[in-house]
Amino acid sequence: MSEALTLVGIEKAYNRGQPNEVSVLRGASLTVSAGEVVALVAPSGAGKSTLLHIAGLLDTADAGRVSLGGTDMTDLNDKRRTIARRREAGFVYQFHHLLPEFSALENVILPQLANGIAKPEAEARAIGLLNRVGVAERASHRPAALSGGEQQRVAFCRALANEPRVLLADEPTGNLDPETSDTVFAALMELVRGTGLSALIATHNMALAARMDRVVRMENGVLVAG
Ligand code: ADP
Repeated sequence: MSEALTLVGIEKAYNRGQPNEVSVLRGASLTVSAGEVVALVAPSGAGKSTLLHIAGLLDTADAGRVSLGGTDMTDLNDKRRTIARRREAGFVYQFHHLLPEFSALENVILPQLANGIAKPEAEARAIGLLNRVGVAERASHRPAALSGGEQQRVAFCRALANEPRVLLADEPTGNLDPETSDTVFAALMELVRGTGLSALIATHNMALAARMDRVVRMENGVLVAG
């Protein structure tokens, strides 16, 4: 099976060389296959966000290699890294981070326009995505008029708007009550499965982790089978 994301020997420390240096990743390696959904489980502060940011080319590692779709992205310059990130990676966070002055629909259209997609095509795709997660009828509403669960559903659509190769999600339902978390997570999984996307999803919730294809745990800065 082809590889969507490969991390080899990733090392990362903050405040390097200073007395308050924090060594977070100490040789983390992982392969996520095309279409595979992997749960990343670890306690708070273990380095999950750091790993997701490096995997999605938002941050660079001190050592190790990052490949997306079999292409080594480690040594790209800033410009090429930004282009690759826009094309390859979709991000979802605990908070929706939708733009408050735009509607749900516009929030899903805008990243596509930034990526050079024509407006009619971007709009059709946005409506299709919002439909899939059951919020199409709320498309004209601004984020503040949506429930927490609806806001996250829209954020999922935005993350998938440019058809990334891999979805990187950091506690995507961590801010929701347990019942809402369950249905919103189901919507995310359906969206991911329906589009054949690969995903690396950080969660504290073992019940959610068990619904993914595989669990990896972060321990002392490395990844081990969960
Ligand atoms: P998690 O997502 O598992 O909660 P993080 O990747 O956010 O973990 O953080 C891992 C460790 O790195 C924590 O100890 C955190 O305090 C530290 N850290 C994260 N970002 C920075 C930063 N920009 N500067 C210094 N330390 C940081």
